[in-house]
Amino acid sequence: MAERATIIGAGIVGICTAISLLEKGFEVLLIDRDRPAEGASHGNAGVISPGSCVPQSMPGTWRSIPKWLLDPEGPVALSWKYLPKFLPWALRFFAAGNEERVPAISDAMQALNRPNVDLYRQMLDGTGHEHLIVDSMYVHVFRNPVDADFKKLAWTLREERGVPLELAEAHEIREIEPALSPDFKAAVLMKGQARATDPRGVGKALAEKANRMGAVFKRVGVHHIQPNPKEGWTIHTDDGELQAETLVIAAGAWSARLLAPLGYSLPLEAERGYHLVFTDPGVTLNNSITDAEAKIAASSMAAGVRCAGTAEFAGLDAPPDYRRARVFKRLARNLIPHIKTDQSVEWMGSRPSFPDSLPCLGKIPGEVGLFCAFGHGHNGFMMAPNTGRVVAEVVAGALPNIDMEPYRVNRFR
Ligand SMILES: Cc1cc2nc3c(=O)[nH]c(=O)nc-3n(C[C@H](O)[C@H](O)[C@H](O)COP(=O)(O)OP(=O)(O)OC[C@H]3O[C@@H](n4cnc5c(N)ncnc54)[C@H](O)[C@@H]3O)c2cc1C
Repeated sequence: MAERATIIGAGIVGICTAISLLEKGFEVLLIDRDRPAEGASHGNAGVISPGSCVPQSMPGTWRSIPKWLLDPEGPVALSWKYLPKFLPWALRFFAAGNEERVPAISDAMQALNRPNVDLYRQMLDGTGHEHLIVDSMYVHVFRNPVDADFKKLAWTLREERGVPLELAEAHEIREIEPALSPDFKAAVLMKGQARATDPRGVGKALAEKANRMGAVFKRVGVHHIQPNPKEGWTIHTDDGELQAETLVIAAGAWSARLLAPLGYSLPLEAERGYHLVFTDPGVTLNNSITDAEAKIAASSMAAGVRCAGTAEFAGLDAPPDYRRARVFKRLARNLIPHIKTDQSVEWMGSRPSFPDSLPCLGKIPGEVGLFCAFGHGHNGFMMAPNTGRVVAEVVAGALPNIDMEPYRVNRFR
C-alpha cells in the first residue's frame, strides 16, 4: 500500500510539495482553510530568479531603516504597538546581515533558487497553463548611475555565484523597456530569468494537476496538531480530528503557530506586502522591473500591470492597511510615466519571513513523521518547486542533492 503524507497549507509551497510527493508514489492529503494559492502565493510579484541570492539583511541595512520608517510612503512600515514583539526578530535580522554570515546565506538561497525556472516548466508541462510562465530578464533600474555599481556586495554576491549580470545605459533601457521613465540612467540586467503572468493561476494549475495525480484536497482550518502516544499525529480541525502518519507543515506565515505547542519558539514574522494591479494600464512591461530606490517590483501580468512591495510589520492578525498599496499609484507613475492608474485592485499578503532570509525545510528533530516547508520570505514563489523536490526527498528517506544544514528548523536555538 502507498504511504500517505498529509500537508497543512495549500500555498505554492504546499502544492509543489504535494506534486513531488505524488511523483514519489505517496498518497497525499492537502489541507487548507482556504482554496489553494490564496495566501501570499496569490498576489506576489511573480519573479522567478535563479539569480536571487541576496539576503534581505545585508551589512549596513540597519542604516537605511530609520529613514524608511519615517517616510509614510517608504518601503518599510512598523505598527508601533507591535514594536515589543517585533524587536527580537529585528535584532536577529540585523545580526544575520553580518559580513561573515552573508556569503553562506547567499549560497543556501542560490542552492534552492537555481533550478526553479526549469522545474516550473516541467511541473506545468501538459497542464495547458504553460504560458503562465514566460522568459524574462530581471531588471533593476537606477536614477543615479553611480548606484548601479558592480563593486557593491549585492552584485559581487551574485557575480561570485555565476549569475549573469549586464549593465545597461539610459538608451539601452529605452530599447528594452520603452514604457519606463527617462529618469532611469542605468540598469542591471539579469538574463535567463522568468516571470509568472498570474502567480495565483500557476498555483491553481498545479493544484489541479496534483488533484488529477490523486491528491485529495480538504478545505478546513487546523487548530493544532498533537503527537499520538504510539505513532503519527492527530490534526484537530474545525471539522473534527484527522490522523496522519507523515505530516508536512507548509502553512506559510502561520506555520510557527502550529509548532508552538510542541515547544518550538520560531522567529517567523509576517512580513506583510501589498500590491496594486492597474487593470487598464495602457502600457506594457517586457520584464520584471525593480525600482531599486523605491523598492517596488513591477510586471505586466494577465490582469494588468502589478506593482508590489512594502515590508510592513504589524503582526499576523492585524487588518490590512491599504494605504500602503495606494502609495504604489504615485510610485508607479514615477516608474512608468504614461501608466493609467484610475482602475486598480489592491491586495495584501504575509510573507513568511525568518531573520536570515532562509526557510525551514526537512525533518523536525525529535518528532517522528513531522516535516517542515515554510519561511521563504521574499522568495517563496520562486523557491517552491525546488522546496517541494527536496522536502519530498527527505520525507521519502532519501538524501537531497543540496546541503540541508542551512535550513534546519532548530538553527535559532
Ligand atoms: C507583495 C509580495 C511580493 C512578492 N513577490 C515575490 C516574487 O516576486 N517572487 C517570489 O519568489 N516570492 C515573492 N513573494 C513571496 C511569496 O509570495 C511567498 O514567499 C510565498 O507565496 C509563500 O508561500 P507559502 O505556500 O509558504 O505560503 P502561503 O501562500 O501564504 O500559503 C500558506 C497557506 O497555509 C494556509 N494555512 C495557514 N494556517 C492554516 C491553518 N491553521 N489551517 C489551515 N490552513 C492554514 C493558508 O490558508 C495558506 O493558504 C512576495 C510576497 C509578497 C507579499
